[in-house]
Amino acid sequence: MLLQTVRYLLLATFLGPILVTSDGIESYENYYNEIHVDDEQAEAKTRNALTSPLQRWPGNKVYYRISTDYSEQEVANVRTAMSSFGEHTCVQFEEIEGSPPAGRRYVSFKKSPNMCGTRVGYQPLSFGPHEVLLNERCLTMPAVIQHESLHLLGLFHEQSRPDRDEYVKIDYDNIPRKYWSQFMAMDQTTTFNVPYDYESVMHYSKNAFAKDPSKPTIRALIDGKAVEREMGQVRGPSEGDWTKIRLMYKC
Ligand SMILES: [Zn+2]
Repeated sequence: MLLQTVRYLLLATFLGPILVTSDGIESYENYYNEIHVDDEQAEAKTRNALTSPLQRWPGNKVYYRISTDYSEQEVANVRTAMSSFGEHTCVQFEEIEGSPPAGRRYVSFKKSPNMCGTRVGYQPLSFGPHEVLLNERCLTMPAVIQHESLHLLGLFHEQSRPDRDEYVKIDYDNIPRKYWSQFMAMDQTTTFNVPYDYESVMHYSKNAFAKDPSKPTIRALIDGKAVEREMGQVRGPSEGDWTKIRLMYKC
């Protein structure tokens, strides 16, 4: 498939520096960045994923199928991530093995050798399944599977909110010019009046796409001053993330 035709948000996972904890056991600091291919940006600029009812999954129900090349543990991680939506929202993910009910689109979890990503919102005019591509590293993290699922339900990244300039300052000097577009605000989306959430699982980390990772690319604006703080996380959706899905799907 030609790269230009792949309209995905690409989530490239990078291994951060190895940290040695006080008891001597090695652990990894994880962070992830995302790359939007060019035509995805063009589409996103003209699209309003959050406010258009046509881009919500009909009946608040999402059928999904897991590729047969997933390991038992990977299948378990997807199921854990999917069941969390039924616990926190009125959106139900239901696993299928064969075809979905007639006329219904479904999500297809596939394995990718390198990238993780999916399209934002329900795609009423597309043919075939709504693919979610996950590499083996992403498949170890239910929070990343939840992150992709929040995209397919209709959420963009938190720091793309139309009001984000009141809450964050982007340090473009520390970002290669080719990635500046990753930091654009989506003016046509809505916040549903949910407060800006630095803890959103949809928020970039503070040094996403940094030329110099020891310095931030995103700082919080506190009383008009740009302040370095932690942002984003891979533990799972925040209460604000769940709230937005509940409002979007009228739970
Ligand atoms: Zn993303």
